Amino acid sequence: MTRRSHWLGEALEDDDARAPPLEGDARVDVCIVGGGYTGLWTAIRLKEQDPSLDVMVIEKDYCGAGASGRNGGFVLSWWAKLLSLTKICGEEEAIRLAKASADNVAEIGEFCQTNNIDSHFRHDGWLWAATAPSQVGLWRETIETANRYQLHPLEEVSPAEAARRAGSGRHIAGAFEATAASVQPALLARGLRRVAVEKGVRIHEQTPMTKLTRGSPPTLRTPRGRVHAKKVVLAMNAWGIRFSELRRGIVVVSSDIVATEAMPEKLAEIGYSNGMAISDGRMMVHYYRTTLDGRIVFGKGGMNGILPFGGHVGEMFDGPSRRETGVADWLRWTYPNLGEVKIQSSWMGPIDRSKSGLPAFGGLGGHPDILYGIGYSGNGVGPSAMGGRILASLALEKKDEWSQCGLVRPFGRDFPPEPIRYFGGHLVRRAVAAKDKADDAGRAAGPLTNYLAGLAPAGLSPLKRATRKQPRTLSD
Ligand SMILES: Cc1cc2nc3c(=O)[nH]c(=O)nc-3n(C[C@H](O)[C@H](O)[C@H](O)COP(=O)(O)OP(=O)(O)OC[C@H]3O[C@@H](n4cnc5c(N)ncnc54)[C@H](O)[C@@H]3O)c2cc1C
Repeated sequence: MTRRSHWLGEALEDDDARAPPLEGDARVDVCIVGGGYTGLWTAIRLKEQDPSLDVMVIEKDYCGAGASGRNGGFVLSWWAKLLSLTKICGEEEAIRLAKASADNVAEIGEFCQTNNIDSHFRHDGWLWAATAPSQVGLWRETIETANRYQLHPLEEVSPAEAARRAGSGRHIAGAFEATAASVQPALLARGLRRVAVEKGVRIHEQTPMTKLTRGSPPTLRTPRGRVHAKKVVLAMNAWGIRFSELRRGIVVVSSDIVATEAMPEKLAEIGYSNGMAISDGRMMVHYYRTTLDGRIVFGKGGMNGILPFGGHVGEMFDGPSRRETGVADWLRWTYPNLGEVKIQSSWMGPIDRSKSGLPAFGGLGGHPDILYGIGYSGNGVGPSAMGGRILASLALEKKDEWSQCGLVRPFGRDFPPEPIRYFGGHLVRRAVAAKDKADDAGRAAGPLTNYLAGLAPAGLSPLKRATRKQPRTLSD
């Protein structure tokens, strides 16, 4: 593994566990493709429910090398996505799922504690902040919808309080959700891997699935082996767009992160040292949090303009950020009171954006034995644990609240085919950047910019849509 995020490098310092590549033929009950949170949670939930199941995970790199080992580490509920959830599954199911997603955050903390996963879980909440006048109040419709059910997951705070909690006067308004947490994401991924192995899951790293045959049972090929599985679970995140059924519902965009050097004293001085996560309301969202050793990890969505053509993602989102300077400038802009801030590392990763900003689960092209879970749209650290429950129930053919939840659904044709998708995607991305710039300057964007920016998926730029007031998502 040559390209490591700060997180993964730190996690691997004390973790030299490696699983051998798959050699030869294997027959298993469930083969999971992808060793990130979705794949590992699914494997763990399957073994919890039926320890006799033969469950295999194949991972093209090392477990946690995908988005799960390089994200911002925000563990969020779906409360902020309540309006989008409602559009997909109706208000009551949306409320049920949002409540479950908040419980799920606490459950991740408990799971880590029970299983000795030191993931730096800090249950200090999330601030949905405004750093420009145009972002103020983006949360209000969501709050009002929840309030109709006598639920108060988000609380608007005063401008002074937003600035105080975030540690900088750039924060001019905000709403706070106490149920959210933050983690060191790679430590969580590597911990899940260890627990899966302890439960008897067979893991093969450095084992890419090179071909999937949609038979009965389905068969997977890898460079030096073959797997016959009663059920296949595709937990491949952005790499899943190689399948046309998923590609039509997902666009892949980048998110870039910088990590400062450790500066615990400075963070203490500005009053921002806890584990509270912050996102602003930009279309190309800024998201940031502190670490236990006193760094700020600061990300920006969609900035670098890398878009895959067709279904090929490969390694295009690996390595250091190509926009490190730009992202670092935004960090310095957000925290002018920190003075000189040194950047220690940067990286990027792919985001699997769906139109609604929410994931979908189900059978690939209706195939009952090939399941998928994709589309977390930059909010997957918490939700992938729910994804694991949904996929486990689907694989076990259970009829329960997970397999029958509103997110088990096929994708429609939400995005156009190539080459319109690629060239159109660049146009939309540029419009989103121009719209953010106009908002920052306090002027109105032109009608064409607004129109094109309005074509971006929910959470990124939903102008003139019901989803207009969703957060700009976490990290897309
Ligand atoms: C920079 C960045 C910041 C983010 N910040 C946040 C955040 O703060 N909070 C939040 O909730 N979400 C965040 N996200 C999103 C979150 O990380 C993801 O939604 C989550 O990790 C998805 O987990 P996953 O297991 O589905 O995907 P992944 O962790 O990407 O796992 C998919 C795995 O499949 C493997 N794979 C792909 N193709 C094959 C193949 N052919 N054969 C075998 N294996 C294969 C990959 O190597 C990878 O390990 C962020 C994402 C990025 C990139």
